[in-house]
Amino acid sequence: MRIVVAGAAGFIGSHLVERLLRDGHTVVGLDNFASGSRANLTALVSHPAFSFIEHDITRPLPPLGTCDRIYNLACPASPIDFGPRPLEILAVCSQGVWNLAELARRAGARFLQASTSEIYGDPQEHPQRETYWGHVNPIGPRSCYDEGKRFAEAWLTACARQHGLAVRIARIFNTYGPQMRADDGRMLPTFIVQALRGEPLTVHGDGSQTRSFCYVSDLVDGLVRLMESDVTAPVNLGNPAEITILAAAREVLELTGSRSEIRFVSRPADDPRIRCPDITRARTLLGWEPQVSRRDGFARTIAWFRQRC
Ligand code: UDP
Repeated sequence: MRIVVAGAAGFIGSHLVERLLRDGHTVVGLDNFASGSRANLTALVSHPAFSFIEHDITRPLPPLGTCDRIYNLACPASPIDFGPRPLEILAVCSQGVWNLAELARRAGARFLQASTSEIYGDPQEHPQRETYWGHVNPIGPRSCYDEGKRFAEAWLTACARQHGLAVRIARIFNTYGPQMRADDGRMLPTFIVQALRGEPLTVHGDGSQTRSFCYVSDLVDGLVRLMESDVTAPVNLGNPAEITILAAAREVLELTGSRSEIRFVSRPADDPRIRCPDITRARTLLGWEPQVSRRDGFARTIAWFRQRC
C-alpha cells in the first residue's frame, strides 16, 4: 500500500514509519519539525520506499499522488508545548485535520487519527472506557490540546457521517521509548536524564498522581491493527499497568543505579490526578494486548538515553 504519515519525524510517527516500511509498504512522511526531529528520520531516509516532504499540515497540502492510508500523528503533544504554542496546536488539530481529511476523501483513503487520553481530561471514571465523555476544562492551560483533539474527533466523525470517510480513532495513553526528546518535559525522559546526570528527579506535587505507560512498539502495533480493522468507534490504546509518579521515579532510580535524590516541586494546573485505560475494546475487537512490561521498556529506554547523555 501507499501510506501517508503526518508527523513522521515525531516520536511515535518515526516508529510507525519504520514498522510500515518493514511490512513492505511505500511511505510518504510529512513533518514541519515543530516538535519532531531530523534525527528521528536518519535511519529511514535511505530506505527506497520512503520519501519525506517538509510541510506544515495547516497549509494547503502539496500534491501527494495516490494513497490508500493516512495516519495523522502530527501535533505537539507534550504539556510543555501547551503554554507557548496553544494557537499552533489548535490550528494543527482543526485546519490540519481538515486538510488531511480532504486528501483522504479525494484519494478514497482510510484515515487514522491519533487522538489521546487527554480527551478524558481529569477523569471522574476510572479506568477510562471509550464510552466516557470526559471532564475537560475548556479554558485551562491544557485546553488547546484537549479540546483540539476533541474537535478533531468531532470533525472526523462528521466527515464519516457526511462524506462516508473511512475513519479510525486511536485514543493513545502515555507512550514512551527510544527517540523521545530528552528535553520534551515529559516525565520519563526528564527522570531518566536527571538520573543519568546525577541531578534531582523533579516529582510534581506529592507524586501520588497516576499514569499508565505503554512501550512504543506495542502502541504502533495497536495503531496498525486498528487501521486494518473494520472498527470505526474510538479505541483506547495504552498499557493498563497503572503506577504513581513517585513509584515511577523510584523505578527509574533503581534501573539506572542512580543516587539522585527525589525533589518535590509544584504540580502544574489541571494535571490529571489519575489515568488508566480500559482496553477491553482493543483486546476483543483487535486482539491487541501490550507485550512489553514496564520494567523491560524502561530499561530499553534508559539504555537508549545512556548512549546520548
Ligand atoms: N511529571 C513530574 N515531573 C516531571 C514531569 C512530569 O512529576 O518532571 C508528572 C506530571 O505532572 C504528570 C505525570 O508526571 O502528573 C506525567 O506527565 P507527562 O508530562 O509525562 O504526561 P501527561 O500524562 O501529563 O501528558
